[in-house]
Amino acid sequence: MINKKRILVLAPHTDDGELGLGGSIARFVDEGKEIYYAAFSICRNSLEEGLSPDTLEKELNNATKILGIPPENLRLFDYNVRNFNSYRQNILEDMVKLKKELNPDLIFLPCSTDLHQDHQVIHNEGLRSFRDISILGYELPWNNLNFQTSCFIKLKEVHILKKAKALKEYKSQLHRSYLNENFIRGLAISRGVQVNSEFAEAFEVLKFIY
Ligand SMILES: [Zn+2]
Repeated sequence: MINKKRILVLAPHTDDGELGLGGSIARFVDEGKEIYYAAFSICRNSLEEGLSPDTLEKELNNATKILGIPPENLRLFDYNVRNFNSYRQNILEDMVKLKKELNPDLIFLPCSTDLHQDHQVIHNEGLRSFRDISILGYELPWNNLNFQTSCFIKLKEVHILKKAKALKEYKSQLHRSYLNENFIRGLAISRGVQVNSEFAEAFEVLKFIY
């Protein structure tokens, strides 16, 4: 982390970034780092009936605002859920453009053992697009049978509270068990115990360049 100032979070779907590193984003914002957040689907096809197609876009705007990401630092794409593989080349080109536009020095993306097919596409294309940039993989335990905890970001309670508050903005998704505040807190406490901190989020080091 040390000298990293411009951070880009790659989220396959809305909420993946907040779930994987919401606490760390809150800490980065506190430390004055510049955070950009790119979501590759606003999942308009996986919403419950009766909800407006831009529901998740609005929820993402609210959630990232709580974490302290300025709205102008969001980049939204609209690929179909579970279909990213068909758009692999377009996604790669989007990432290359993001790299040119934002010139980030640290990337967060789904970890190498994530089983979700869209997450795997973002992982692989991310590694291709950001060859010369440090990359950390984030943890989404319901998608990972294995996870290499090779990096930890220590957090304070205030960061975890912000993460939980941000995730509550996903009102259309509250039936999902991983959005439960006890789970979010419990995982952060478990990761914290591993590094003698009250709370933490864990990451897989995919590439570290200093
Ligand atoms: Zn996802």
